[in-house]
Amino acid sequence: MAEPARKAFVCGHPIAHSRSPKIHGYWLETYGIDGSYEAVDVTPEAFPSFVEELRSGAYIGGNVTLPNKEAAYLLADRRDAAADEIGAANTLWVVDGLVHASNTDAYGFAANLDEYAPGWDRGRIAVVLGAGGAARAVVHALKERGFAEIRIVNRTAARAEELADRFGLRVSAHRIDACRELCGDADLLVNTTSVGMSGGGGVPADPAWLPDRALVADIVYVPLETPLLAAAKDRGLMTVDGLGMLLHQAVPGFQRWFGARPAVTGELRAMIVRDIQSR
Ligand code: NAP
Repeated sequence: MAEPARKAFVCGHPIAHSRSPKIHGYWLETYGIDGSYEAVDVTPEAFPSFVEELRSGAYIGGNVTLPNKEAAYLLADRRDAAADEIGAANTLWVVDGLVHASNTDAYGFAANLDEYAPGWDRGRIAVVLGAGGAARAVVHALKERGFAEIRIVNRTAARAEELADRFGLRVSAHRIDACRELCGDADLLVNTTSVGMSGGGGVPADPAWLPDRALVADIVYVPLETPLLAAAKDRGLMTVDGLGMLLHQAVPGFQRWFGARPAVTGELRAMIVRDIQSR
């Protein structure tokens, strides 16, 4: 008897905006895999019973997005090292009725820079703007890649301090008014705040403060060229946009659920760029 088609999901609340079904749908078709990947609206209140459904085999696994990433981490039966470090999960899979959790955002962030700015991890000093959920993944990636100093700058100082305490050695917390000085000798500036999203809020830090060698990365990808990236380009700095992080973070989950390691191709990127531009 043929095996039943494998079913995966992305869940969050709201979820209609998610581009993950397009990404995984593209790979399912490209690799001719008999499977599905659907968006499911799951509120925080309904998330625990959704995890129960997973244990009873409703799906082989899936992605979790806002606002359920921390609950996914806490409710999972098994967690990998990245999920433990970050304290949140975006990728789940089910084995023998047990829900396993990982966080692939850090992987996606690093893989994007590997693709567009090879050698980026030879830098020593990074300034990270923001201290939300995405910042945790970025700081984890920067620690893993050996940055000697990771300076977190956030509007709400207490959140930056909480993050610095969580990651400990080599990670420090700072107020926004210290940003100019902190950028002066930085090799890498990463924006993880939502400033610049949908063109709103302007530039979270002035690229003029950075040395000529600095790389500027924004994890916001709507628009693709945020005001920060535009200003950094004007200043003559190398830049990397946030779309590649979204594409690369999807790779490990797809491989786990459907068995093939998918490629992040120019064709896939172009398809998502068209989707961004059409909304
Ligand atoms: P979050 O947990 O809500 O954190 C938001 C961060 O932005 C906080 O540090 C917040 O500062 C800061 N912020 C918001 N408005 C601000 C303002 N007007 N001025 C200064 N700081 C402001 O969100 P998140 O999950 O970390 O996501 C952040 C961004 O990353 C979103 O735009 C999201 O789309 C993007 N993202 C991209 C990817 C990708 O794959 N490329 C993955 C994850 C997230 P306070 O602490 O002071 O509020």
